[in-house]
Amino acid sequence: MILSFASGKGGTGKTLLATNLAWMLSKRGPATYVDADVEEPNGHLFLKHKTARLERVAVALPKLQGSCTGCGVCQKVCAFHAILALKDRVMVFPELCHSCGACVIACPERALVETPHEIGSISRAHLGDLQLLSGRLDVGQARATPLVEAVVEAATREHEGELVIVDSPPGTSCSAMAAVRRADLVVLVTEPTPFGLNDLKLAVEMCRALKRDVVAVVNRSDLGDQEVALYLEREGIPTLGQLPFHRSIATAYAQGQLAVGRSAKLRTVLDAIIAYCDDRTFEGRTP
Ligand code: SF4
Ligand code: SF4
Repeated sequence: MILSFASGKGGTGKTLLATNLAWMLSKRGPATYVDADVEEPNGHLFLKHKTARLERVAVALPKLQGSCTGCGVCQKVCAFHAILALKDRVMVFPELCHSCGACVIACPERALVETPHEIGSISRAHLGDLQLLSGRLDVGQARATPLVEAVVEAATREHEGELVIVDSPPGTSCSAMAAVRRADLVVLVTEPTPFGLNDLKLAVEMCRALKRDVVAVVNRSDLGDQEVALYLEREGIPTLGQLPFHRSIATAYAQGQLAVGRSAKLRTVLDAIIAYCDDRTFEGRTP
């Protein structure tokens, strides 16, 4: 089962819930925590481990290796405007290229080949029964999605049959979609503010477009208004917990500590998520 924690905006408490839940679940048996927020992974700050194994991740980029006639076919087939045909050569823009390979196949001169282009790394570690996989995008790389896909794919392949908890990037971009695409259940973490509501709606639309089941947790539930609660009720989205602002949680988070031992309310929310997962039989909907 894959459980993804997502949110329409950053700073809602997604990592707080994902790391604490992963740690709690690992006390019941093997579990896996995936940090798919590859542009700023921070799960390791709370799930501290000593050593990690690093694996580099690369995507395929087209490269001119034969003689080019400047026919422009490669430029025409590229849907992402990532390759520019000049008189007798081409220019590739790596930050736009989606590694689809269409230009390589279409080139009538067979002048293009695919070459690996490193974009980041996946680190693997463990903490007792908890396996940790964390993606980290290299500085200067623009496209996070292939790395998110790689780290989620690695976790689900290597830990098939275990509970895999994915800490997704915030927002509703391609990288956020890649982190929830395989989820059996998406936990949307939100807050009761106008910004929170706006971004929650976008996140719900994203999950529904991907045909994912969603539940919600409202963090800092005592600050703000009732609009988020009313929206969730209208949309029929189960709210598994309301977590009021609590200084002990904020202090633990700021110190890089797991907060579950310091807050009974956090524990209650996490227990509710576990109970919900235990009670339901999920149908795999991997596209
Ligand atoms: S691999 Fe695909 S995205 Fe990249 S330049 Fe070629 S056609 Fe465009
Ligand atoms: S399709 Fe091949 S030959 Fe034509 S411009 Fe592109 S690389 Fe050159």
